[in-house]
Amino acid sequence: MHSVVIGAGTMGCGIAEVLLKAGHPTQLIDRSSELVSQGHMRIQQSLERAVSKGKLTPEQQQQALQLLDISSLEVTRAELVIEAAFEDLNLKKELLAPLSQRFPRAILASNTSSLSLTEMASACHHPERVIGMHFFNPPPIMELLEVVKAEQTDQATLEQALELARSWGKTAIVVKDVPGFASSRLGIILGMEAIRMLESGVASARDIDRAMELGYRHPMGPLKLTDLVGLDVRLAIADHLTREVGPQFTAPPLLRRLVRAGRLGKKTGRGFYRWEGNEAHE
Ligand code: NAD
Repeated sequence: MHSVVIGAGTMGCGIAEVLLKAGHPTQLIDRSSELVSQGHMRIQQSLERAVSKGKLTPEQQQQALQLLDISSLEVTRAELVIEAAFEDLNLKKELLAPLSQRFPRAILASNTSSLSLTEMASACHHPERVIGMHFFNPPPIMELLEVVKAEQTDQATLEQALELARSWGKTAIVVKDVPGFASSRLGIILGMEAIRMLESGVASARDIDRAMELGYRHPMGPLKLTDLVGLDVRLAIADHLTREVGPQFTAPPLLRRLVRAGRLGKKTGRGFYRWEGNEAHE
């Protein structure tokens, strides 16, 4: 299945890796060829890590890389499109609408964490082919795929999406198109409250995280998870949910200050923790 991933950032690269490993020829695009080349390098490094951990053979790594197309920013063929650009509704509409016109049979999926698939579909020529495919970070490792049904999504598109999820080794849940779906709605509440607790001096970042890791068996505490997701990404989702659902999602001033200071988490080396590779230090 000829696939296109839009956005060579944290999620786009991980999603492309999932598709490549599943044998889909995959074109990766971004705003510039430099960003696509950086994405290519990221995918290569991630595949190398998988080989060094014995999760992939060197032959599988080569096969996956051969399926990656970074030759152009123009899309000439698409059966599946997964959009993973910034969390901005207008941008997502602008990216999906022309592809819907040019590739009427393609599944048009968005990896949005919170935005309305129904509105994205409304901007498209074939709204019945639009669906949410919400991957989790890092996509090659996380098992969940949250499949979000827009009002217009037809049954065939939903079934194809569920079949793809199975073929990628993911477990899918099907969710109605409501702001934040099931996962972000719960995750953001926990994340924002943890930041408020840090701000008011309840405990250190490490200890707030340990409360959830050791007391509730979460694999990762809410502050470390926010560092991994990106503070800017979580702020955009919290602002959207505040507008759409209510004040319980209001972002604490500390989160806004850190984003303004460029402390976006692991991707910039500093968030609530200081990052050296995969190691988080207080
Ligand atoms: P990111 O900032 O790491 O990457 C976004 C990429 O999109 C950047 O490389 C950017 O250059 C590119 N982009 C922006 N405008 C573009 C355009 N017009 N054409 C092509 N590319 C464009 O962000 P991310 O964390 O990968 O998030 C991407 C999407 O995935 C967002 O909608 C986010 O809400 C969602 N998401 C993120 C996470 C996470 O943990 N970070 C998890 C699930 C879903």
